[in-house]
Amino acid sequence: MRKPIIAGNWKMFKTRDEALQFVYNVNKKVPSKDLVDSVVCVQSPVLRDLVKRQGDNLRIGAQNMHYLDSGAYTGEVSAPLLDNIGVSYVVLGHSERRAYYNETDEAVNKKIHQAFRYGLTPILCVGESLEVREAGETNEYVKSQVVKALKGLGKSQIIELVLAYEPIWAIGTGKTATSEMANETIKAIRDVVANLYNSETAEAMRIQYGGSVKPANIKELLSMSDIDGALVGGASLDADSFLELVNAAVK
Ligand code: PGA
Repeated sequence: MRKPIIAGNWKMFKTRDEALQFVYNVNKKVPSKDLVDSVVCVQSPVLRDLVKRQGDNLRIGAQNMHYLDSGAYTGEVSAPLLDNIGVSYVVLGHSERRAYYNETDEAVNKKIHQAFRYGLTPILCVGESLEVREAGETNEYVKSQVVKALKGLGKSQIIELVLAYEPIWAIGTGKTATSEMANETIKAIRDVVANLYNSETAEAMRIQYGGSVKPANIKELLSMSDIDGALVGGASLDADSFLELVNAAVK
């Protein structure tokens, strides 16, 4: 049995006041972490404030991180610091990071290893563009991203990390992949992991879908055999909407 995980990805939204207000509104209302993992991934300057107020069941994540401990890398955030302030998750390899900040599969792989060194749970994002989807090359493309990102990881780490399949054409566009389409690609990812490791590992790992998930479509997505949760941008910004999403994941 894989525990569902709903993670909000706030991207570059919300001031400190707005972020605090959100956490005051939700932290006592999110369901037990025994039933669903509820996470919000936020801008770095508010991480500590939110960790302090996360309560028993909400957890806080960062949206990116460097793969080295420290150094002359202006503007970057380190894993030792995230660990030090009590952050639980870190989104790695989001398509916006890959597209606007030239993040490569190799860098994403180094970041995953670094996250594990500091006890942070990586949320690894993969997904194809519309061009790749229309050319019928989705499975090969996503396979290549998965193989490169997971290089050198052990079975227990595969089970611990969270993978998010996010077709780029469905992010922020209102165009959700159909639940069948999302499930099919996620199944293909499990096959890749079964080949790299074994079928038990592939069955145990948690894979989210992301891309225009909202309260109106989450139940249908989560009813699919291989979808274990969602990585949600726009619909995670509103407290009531976020609560609807996490509640929908309680079986
Ligand atoms: P969206 O974003 O829910 O706004 O489409 C998803 C994401 O980028 O993680």
